[in-house]
Amino acid sequence: MAEDTAPRVTFGAWPTPLEPAPRLARALGLGAGDLWLKRDDLTGLGGGGNKVRKLEFLCGAAVAAGARTLVTSGAPQSNHARLTAAAGARLGLDVVLVLAGPAAGQDLGAGNVALDGLLGAEIVWAGEADAADVVQQVVERLRGEGAEPALIPFGGSSATGARGYAECGRELLSQAPDLAQVVTALGSGGTMAGLVRTLGPERVLGVHCGAVPDPGAAVAALVPCPAEALRLRLDQVGAGYATLTEPVKAAIRTAARTEGVVLDPIYTGRAMAGLIAAVTEGDVRAGDRTVFLHSGGLPGLFGNEPAMRWAGAGAP
Ligand SMILES: *Cc1c(COP(=O)(O)O)cnc(C)c1O
Repeated sequence: MAEDTAPRVTFGAWPTPLEPAPRLARALGLGAGDLWLKRDDLTGLGGGGNKVRKLEFLCGAAVAAGARTLVTSGAPQSNHARLTAAAGARLGLDVVLVLAGPAAGQDLGAGNVALDGLLGAEIVWAGEADAADVVQQVVERLRGEGAEPALIPFGGSSATGARGYAECGRELLSQAPDLAQVVTALGSGGTMAGLVRTLGPERVLGVHCGAVPDPGAAVAALVPCPAEALRLRLDQVGAGYATLTEPVKAAIRTAARTEGVVLDPIYTGRAMAGLIAAVTEGDVRAGDRTVFLHSGGLPGLFGNEPAMRWAGAGAP
């Protein structure tokens, strides 16, 4: 299907702002005019974030196919699950979220999982089972009930979902024709893949967040570009996806105190820590226009107890 005829629903107000970040730029060792923030945390629906752009295309396809229920999966604090719940509410569709792990031990009143409940989604905890298997069971159950389920992929990352970020790349080229590179968090891969489709692999730096075992393969599966050509940083995961690392703490504190911009410990904090490391190593240089994609995730900060305790103690 051609790009321009893909079914799409509208959830956001586009384009999102591209804002200068002169104090953060200086703190990182760049020139004041070198660093800009693409505010995809301000995408409107359900608290905002990068999944809104993907869901415009994924839900467009689901509605065109006659779906009445959206089914997706994610980590307990998945921003994607929360935004799928919001998209379903906006479209008048039921939503079932399969969240990894057991319900026991989760703080159901924190962050994204609390918003999932507020937005009216049904939550199925996968427990010991593989979430993908539970998703299949849920889809079969819903088919049996005549609920016309549409499966929204993990992280919203499929060729259809990635169209949203191909579109974001076009927005960026009109806002900043001279952009040297975009720095983005890399989770399930669709965001980076879409940006690479429009901007080419040399202008996108992806910082792996530990959401998938092989991030290069995840991106390369969604865009005609070999994994070896991608600019990836794999050094910010620490002891695993849910951990709060020292470089991420420094990145979150610096962004907050120079620009009043709040990052999250899983995605945007890692992306900023990766940008800081890239400047230190000379991979990102003063004099070039660098855009940092703020992909959202604020509810994830509120759902991360170690990060909240650290922040509440003055972010030492
Ligand atoms: C999902 C997510 C990402 C990563 O996007 P992918 O397309 O899954 O790689 C980045 N930032 C935030 C806040 C997210 O929720």
